[in-house]
Formats: sequence, C-alpha cells, structure tokens
Amino acid sequence: MEHFKKYINEIKDFPKEGIVFKDINPIYKDPKILKELMVPLEKLIATSKPDYIAGIESRGFISASALAFKLELGFIPIRKPKKLPGKVIGINYKLEYGEDRLEIQLNSFDKDSKIIIIDDLLATGGTASAAGSLIRNAGGSLIGYAFLMELTDLQGRKKLESNLIVESLIKF
Ligand code: AMP
Repeated sequence: MEHFKKYINEIKDFPKEGIVFKDINPIYKDPKILKELMVPLEKLIATSKPDYIAGIESRGFISASALAFKLELGFIPIRKPKKLPGKVIGINYKLEYGEDRLEIQLNSFDKDSKIIIIDDLLATGGTASAAGSLIRNAGGSLIGYAFLMELTDLQGRKKLESNLIVESLIKF
C-alpha cells in the first residue's frame, strides 16, 4: 500500500491553519490506480457481507458509493445537518473546537440490517465514532468501518469499538 502515497498530495494549512490535508483526488483521477486501491475493500466487504454501505459526507461518498455499486449493495448517505429531506435522526459530536452533527434519514434501513461505514480518512476518530453511534441508534447492526487513509499517530481507532472491523488501506 506504500506505493499509493505518491498519489496523495499534502496541502499545508487546509482547510485551516495547522492541518496537513491529505488530498487523494489524484487517485480518483486514475482509474487503474483507483481500481487497485479498491481491491482489498471489495474483498473485505464481500466477505463481511453487509446489507448496506454507509458513506460519510462528503469525501466518504466517493468510495462508498463506488463500492456499493460494484458489490450491488444499498448505499446510505450519512450527512451534515439540514441536508436530508424528511424525518431524520442525528447525533452531535465534539470537534477539537466546537461541535458538529451527522444525520441519516429515519427508516433508512430495516432494523438489525448489517452496515459498514466508509470514510476517506480516520484521524481522531470522532467523526467515525459518531457515525457508528448514529447507525446503532437508528437500529442498525454496525459491523465496522473502512477508510482509505489513517493518521495512526492520532490513535483514532481507539475510539472505535475493538470488536468491530476497522480497516484502513494507507497508513501515515
Ligand atoms: P476525525 O473525526 O478527526 O477522525 O476526522 C475525520 C474526518 O475529517 C474525515 O471525514 C476526513 O475527511 C476529515 N479529515 C481529518 N483530517 C484530515 C486530513 N488531514 N486530511 C484530509 N481529511 C481529513
């Protein structure tokens, strides 16, 4: 997986000062490289057999929806507040400074449906952990998480339940 790093640009102080943003767009632009990167996730999802793939807005949507299409699974968007129409269920979670919120549509899936959550990057784990609680609160059976990238020093996986799948492809 190390060889994928040359396709990831590091942008300093984006979106705010102090963050080194991992820009994975060069991989999305190259269909061969993207296909190669997706193979382990395809295998993981094919063997763990979820009913749905949930993607976290917005960069999580890209790989989650591609995998859902390829594996013929339903896709559930986990969105920022006030984006989804109709009745929603949401969860607030703490950021380094302030608070954020994620929402899904009420009755997005049948009770106890097996769901895997996908996002582009695992940093502190706050977003993924909140997304997991949201799926559970909505009655889903959370089977785990998959990320394209992980910032291992931030130890985000410690925030995620250890009995679940927590897979990341490219580790920094
Ligand atoms: P966290 O909740 O700290 O695990 O942050 C994860 C979320 O923030 C993911 O949805 C990422 O898209 C985004 N994120 C955090 N840090 C970075 C980074 N260095 N580069 C790109 N995206 C990031």
